[in-house]
Amino acid sequence: MTKRIPPVVMLHHVSDDPSHESLKPYSISHQSFLQLLDYLEEHSYQTVTFADLVHNSSILMLKQKKVILSFDDCPKHLFAFALPELQKRKMKAVFYMPTAHIGGYNEWDAAEGREQVALMNETDLKELCRIGMEVGAHSHHHIRLKEADVSIVQNEVATSKKILEEITGETVCSFAYPFGSVPAGYQQILSSAGYSYASSIYHPFENEFALRRFIYHDGDTSETLYRKLSFFYKYFRKLTDPFKTY
Ligand SMILES: [Zn+2]
Repeated sequence: MTKRIPPVVMLHHVSDDPSHESLKPYSISHQSFLQLLDYLEEHSYQTVTFADLVHNSSILMLKQKKVILSFDDCPKHLFAFALPELQKRKMKAVFYMPTAHIGGYNEWDAAEGREQVALMNETDLKELCRIGMEVGAHSHHHIRLKEADVSIVQNEVATSKKILEEITGETVCSFAYPFGSVPAGYQQILSSAGYSYASSIYHPFENEFALRRFIYHDGDTSETLYRKLSFFYKYFRKLTDPFKTY
């Protein structure tokens, strides 16, 4: 079933602010972002969200090439450039918010010496929904779930969903594991909490609750994008993804 899930791109920051250098490779330049969107347009990709797959599963039967764009952490500066560019092209994306940090900042990056950036607040999350984007959960505290006790994992997964649903009034159907850290028993935990999909980064066994994503960074070109978006790349990742995930 998961072989039909479109390729999922993992993005975080889109910024030309020199102070965001420390967030690379998770911060890409405006030019790199435009290169990605231009490539998708030129190659007739349709951007879809996990909510689209849930509400209209027949969308996967349609011939047009599809891709899911996902942004982790919800930095507020996405409203300055990335979101207007997506809207201009009528493209959609999924935005993953760690709910304890709504209106706060990326403490986990700052703890590692990276630049501190403001994250979206409740009004911003409502605005994302209003303009047709999907808001997904990224745990409550942005912790490594693989290292947490099962009761903590259950709480992180359920609390973040509940808070986002209260804010947006929309059902939250997808989750992204912070740091790509997939906990034991994840399929049972995520499905019991009411999610339909969850995004990982590396994972040896892809399924709907451990979807591989690829990182798009400033070093990517149309050639690397072609490879990363291909079925071959997904197959290659199956062979190379580490059994020991984060
Ligand atoms: Zn994150």
